Amino acid sequence: MLTRVNAKNGDELSILGFGCMRFPVNGGNIDEPRAIAMIHDAIKKGVNYFDTAYIYHNGKSESLLGKALLGGYREQVKIATKLPPFMVNKLQNAEKIIEKQLARLQTTYIDYYLLHMLTDKAMFDRLAALGVMHFLEELKKKGTIRNIGFSFHGSKADFELIVQAYPWDFCQIQYNYMDENNQATKSGLKLAARLGIPVIVMEPLRGGKLVTHLPEEVKKAFAGYNKECSPVEWALKWVWNHSEVNVVLSGMSDEIQLNDNIRIACEAEPDSLSAEELKIFEKVKSVMMEKTKIPCTACGYCMPCPAGVDIPGCFSCYNDKYLLKDKSVRFRYLQTLGAMSVKPANASQCIECGKCESHCPQEIAIREKLKIVSREMEGIFYKPAVGIARRILKLK
Ligand code: SF4
Ligand code: SF4
Repeated sequence: MLTRVNAKNGDELSILGFGCMRFPVNGGNIDEPRAIAMIHDAIKKGVNYFDTAYIYHNGKSESLLGKALLGGYREQVKIATKLPPFMVNKLQNAEKIIEKQLARLQTTYIDYYLLHMLTDKAMFDRLAALGVMHFLEELKKKGTIRNIGFSFHGSKADFELIVQAYPWDFCQIQYNYMDENNQATKSGLKLAARLGIPVIVMEPLRGGKLVTHLPEEVKKAFAGYNKECSPVEWALKWVWNHSEVNVVLSGMSDEIQLNDNIRIACEAEPDSLSAEELKIFEKVKSVMMEKTKIPCTACGYCMPCPAGVDIPGCFSCYNDKYLLKDKSVRFRYLQTLGAMSVKPANASQCIECGKCESHCPQEIAIREKLKIVSREMEGIFYKPAVGIARRILKLK
């Protein structure tokens, strides 16, 4: 297993992190003996970063991880877990959640602690105003939390604001060859590196869609260059090729995935992809682009929108619905573009001013397309669902 050093604190982290949101299940519950055996096997083979969250597996992921790490394993690994902002309306909520997390994990300290899934700067400001950051700093002084970070799903502009708003110890972003210009983007990754903030990458396979839902032409392009190299290997190596990335998380559900990922992680050095291999990715991306409904390259020239619409974010969700046949995409749309945000950025926020269209090099009829996105991605349940989420968050 290759490792990369966290330049901020000297931790030597395995480049493969175990994402604890997709443990094997049996009858709807985590298959405990199997999941525990996979965790032990991963540790034996060099994985030392385990990423869980308060809400994964309906709250059972942290407990399972805590149980698996008894008997001397805890000291060999770093645990990352997260605070769910939507459950924090006052500081006491955060205090209780962290107390519960320590109990579930059967540990006295958490190595990497994240604000879970920030989508915009206002969300961070809300938590900071409640005193959450000060509270986390106090826990850090006591050694209960070792590193403070955030995970992010939102626009490039919001990532840039958040990453510079606080002296973070680390951050976690969605990044893969299809998201190079989406969400935090490559420039966000580079900005974090310039600021000296270590980066953990999640969704290197877009929740498996870059494996299971790849168009045939893309599979052929990969296989045409190297038959032995699977789409998983291509996708993971692309992310690890970036020297700015410390750890890549993979939510592994069976032993085959685990062993395959470990094998790939033993040889994925930064900057190791050849010029020919990088050209294959260009070809793959252009095939994907040809097949997208809205030819948005996520260049961001149309941004910012005065009404707050995340134009490339809206188009990315819509395109995934068709290109990757991603059934969870409506949830992602709800989660990252509206319900969980202080400032909604979904398509129906568009006031049709037209300011964006003259900046679009792809000459996309943005207003017209946003109406289609709004119709298909929001539908009749969107407004009530957003209303409920906003009441929970006490957002105006
Ligand atoms: S037309 Fe709509 S999306 Fe474009 S800038 Fe105006 S409000 Fe924003
Ligand atoms: S300018 Fe056009 S291509 Fe670029 S992000 Fe906006 S809509 Fe997409």
